Amino acid sequence: MAPFDPIHSLYTALLSTYGPQGWWPIRGVYTKQNNHYRTLSEEERFEICLGAILTQNTAWKNVEKSLVALQKHDLLDPQKLERMDMQKLALLIRSSGYHNQKAKKIRAFLDFLKQNKPVTREHLLAVWGIGPETADSMLLYAYQQPVFVVDAYTKRILSRMGLVEKDADYELVRSLLESAFASKTEQEKVKIFNEFHALFVEHAKQYCRTKPLCEHCPLNALCPKRL
Ligand code: SF4
Repeated sequence: MAPFDPIHSLYTALLSTYGPQGWWPIRGVYTKQNNHYRTLSEEERFEICLGAILTQNTAWKNVEKSLVALQKHDLLDPQKLERMDMQKLALLIRSSGYHNQKAKKIRAFLDFLKQNKPVTREHLLAVWGIGPETADSMLLYAYQQPVFVVDAYTKRILSRMGLVEKDADYELVRSLLESAFASKTEQEKVKIFNEFHALFVEHAKQYCRTKPLCEHCPLNALCPKRL
């Protein structure tokens, strides 16, 4: 019998509870099948990267409004967006909050794209306004590289399950999750990491909220509830 592996068990339990999540939504559409293997167009990649910046410190529904506004003005294109006045750009993305800051971050990302450097974690982290979670979201969802995206929901669930400390470092959590799937192929990892991150988000919204709903939680039997 295979030894008990808490990370794999968690992934299996979440996937069987919620099913495929179809991330990353493009034009507001979640693709629940084979999105991970579909080659994305440059335009789709760019939209995902913009979403990764815009979603910093805000809910996705606010980001969607900004993306719709950009789309309406035909600005989901790096060249067109670059010609856009910063203040006008900030107004268009106002629904995402911190709009002046985020307009500057988008501009910094556009400058990076213009340099035609390889899109690596190291290069992305060197761009002003792009931290680990944003860089990893871009790498995984836009560039389909096997990198795990860790967010506050991931840490909350893993710490309550006793798998990491509450204040665990981003890189430590990322390494724990990535190493659990080390034997998989690169393509399998992309598929799993894509799904697993989205499942963490869904579970944190449904049950493992700030005030958790443990009684009816599908992970009840697996979880030591270290609150
Ligand atoms: S049992 Fe409670 S603490 Fe554990 S994952 Fe479920 S909601 Fe979170």
